[in-house]
Amino acid sequence: MEKIKITKSETSKSKPTTDQLEFGRIFTDHMFIMDYSADKGWHEPRIIPYQPLTLDPASIIFHYGQTVFEGLKAYLTPEGKVKLFRPGKNMQRLNRSNDRMCMPAIDETLALEAITTLVSLDKEWVPSAEGTSLYIRPFVIATEPYLGVAPSKNYQFIIILSPVGAYYKEGINPVKIAVENTFVRAVAGGTGEAKTAGNYASSLKAQEMVADKGFAQVLWLDGVEKKYIEEVGSMNVFFKIDGELITPALNGSILEGVTRSSVIDLLKHWDYPVNERRVSMEEVFEAAKHGKLEEAFGSGTAAVISPIGELSWNGESIEVNGGATGPVARKLYTTLTGIQTGKQPDPFNWTIDID
Ligand SMILES: *Cc1c(COP(=O)(O)O)cnc(C)c1O
Repeated sequence: MEKIKITKSETSKSKPTTDQLEFGRIFTDHMFIMDYSADKGWHEPRIIPYQPLTLDPASIIFHYGQTVFEGLKAYLTPEGKVKLFRPGKNMQRLNRSNDRMCMPAIDETLALEAITTLVSLDKEWVPSAEGTSLYIRPFVIATEPYLGVAPSKNYQFIIILSPVGAYYKEGINPVKIAVENTFVRAVAGGTGEAKTAGNYASSLKAQEMVADKGFAQVLWLDGVEKKYIEEVGSMNVFFKIDGELITPALNGSILEGVTRSSVIDLLKHWDYPVNERRVSMEEVFEAAKHGKLEEAFGSGTAAVISPIGELSWNGESIEVNGGATGPVARKLYTTLTGIQTGKQPDPFNWTIDID
């Protein structure tokens, strides 16, 4: 494995105060970068001062969107240690996304070392206030200057870090969700299960239209029949119906979340009946009408658990759990954030410490 060369920044930017923290607008002093060419493979892994990129305007990324990304967080423990939550899972998913987009695999051990070395160098940037963290954004871009539609011969793998504020400023809060009947996010056979830019570009329109009506996110239905539930915004989704916890089964168009898989493991550990299966909007609405829809919530790295207080579909609205956070959502949130920040035991060995 090639050694990571480190060039330290001569100056350090001033760090944000807790109230200046939001999501993804401020970046740390350093970044990681590594190049790929067909003849040399991945080479020259290096950490350099955070800086703009210089790219040929014909680079494939700008025209055909050949790119993938990941998202995970580093958390500060009460003892001042820095922890990562299941980063190996993100690196595996990065390579699944790479494969789907005809991009070269990255050595997962090197990718992980790149993250830990970079976070360790910029660890003063991990914020300490409750609910805050250092967001880690690894991504790969196609850099070959070529206007033909073909996989690029050159790539860059880059990692940047951003201190982020608490997702819930006044405690975990249920949101209003609109079920999307016009636009779709992904179809089986498409790129929905890859974390690739195009999926997010195509979701903006629907998100913009519902935001105007006061909804926080859209709930995506399957792209063929528009009957079965897929995801909520950029989160996976869970329902509790008559005691059963249900999340849509992975079907090729759903993104497999690390949080989703951790939620499933915790629910099983607590002996809740949990099933990955197809679930239709009609089933959820029927359950609500019969008083059997007990909870609904999204899961993802950004919010961890995001309770759904209201669902609107075809002009009808249902309230979930009286618009309040349900007990299972709350228990999952407390446990996951407790494990991530080292405030609770980690029975699954999900976290790793960074020196
Ligand atoms: C990233 C993402 C998720 C959540 O994945 P986590 O690994 O839990 O953060 C869910 N859906 C989509 C579309 C995503 O991009």
